[in-house]
Amino acid sequence: MNEAATTAIRIEKTQQSRLGEVDYDNLKFGQVFADHMLVAEYANGHWEDVSIVPYGNLSLSPATSALHYGQAIFEGLKAYKFDNGAVSIFRPDQNHARFNKSALRLEMPEVPEEVFIGGLKALIGLDRDWVPQTAGASLYIRPFMIGTEAALGVHPSDSYKFIIITGPVGAYYNKPLRLKVETRFTRAAEGGVGFSKNAGNYALSLHPTRLAQDEGFDQLMWTDAKEHKYVEEAGTANLVFRVGDTIITPSADTILHGITRRTIIEIARHWGYQAEERKVSVRELVDGIKNGSVTEAFAAGTAATLTPISEIGYEGQIYTLPDPDEREFSNKVLRYLNDLRYGRIADEFGWNFMVD
Ligand SMILES: *Cc1c(COP(=O)(O)O)cnc(C)c1O
Repeated sequence: MNEAATTAIRIEKTQQSRLGEVDYDNLKFGQVFADHMLVAEYANGHWEDVSIVPYGNLSLSPATSALHYGQAIFEGLKAYKFDNGAVSIFRPDQNHARFNKSALRLEMPEVPEEVFIGGLKALIGLDRDWVPQTAGASLYIRPFMIGTEAALGVHPSDSYKFIIITGPVGAYYNKPLRLKVETRFTRAAEGGVGFSKNAGNYALSLHPTRLAQDEGFDQLMWTDAKEHKYVEEAGTANLVFRVGDTIITPSADTILHGITRRTIIEIARHWGYQAEERKVSVRELVDGIKNGSVTEAFAAGTAATLTPISEIGYEGQIYTLPDPDEREFSNKVLRYLNDLRYGRIADEFGWNFMVD
């Protein structure tokens, strides 16, 4: 990438930390932000001016291109505090790689490693006291990039901001999910942008999701655009099933390739399970639930970690899965992932990036 990219990060510390105001016993997702943020500016064909500044508002022209034409991409990852106080970021190299794939698809510039990974380490090192140590809690990290050219006219922006904000989040309440198989609306089609983590993929999901919620479901199970016959993902998380002794996750160019999903597949294989990434039809799934061969189903993502699916609604029928407490693989892999991320067991895969 760009050799001229600034490696020196300018740091302007806050005059007054807000840490004392945080109610760590009642953290709601994405509502509390740590003291600092990283902001990098892209202009004239390269990244310049990378700085860490107090968290605060941006000043933007109303003609800012991202607001009109949607050049806006993001990532989501977490930092964890070990029992000994060390702080680790989980697999940020994977988020960096995916971020640059999203950038390429939306004709945005790549962010070099020294800005993305170097920026994460510097920012979280500075705000390390914000990483919670309570059970199940973590520091959620949101890197994102927007086109900032102040001009109307459809073309790639000539300037961008790359920003990282963070905030403590509590233990995710693992209420099992009721998902509705969506057979009318489409999230992503082949050749589109389903694999990229861009803002538009969320905007288009809101209306169909709200309709399903009006029917009493929590989330959608999206299906392929062509036939609505194959399951894809749950909109903010990927899907994983256990069929017999095999762990299966839907595979398609249209799904977001989640790092949690990949991590779980890698652990499953390491443990000797057969793990497959392949097409899964809605028929196979609902017939499997009926005949008892599908024994486990969960949503996998950074925000949700691993959330069991209790019921699936399809063509007016409800298919009920076994009790989440009885699910051997789901519970085992969740326990292992937590032990790994909080540094309680050896990191045999090299997935923890220590901040210091
Ligand atoms: C972020 C995201 C996921 C989960 O990805 P992780 O890397 O595991 O957090 C799944 N689906 C969509 C649409 C997403 O945006």
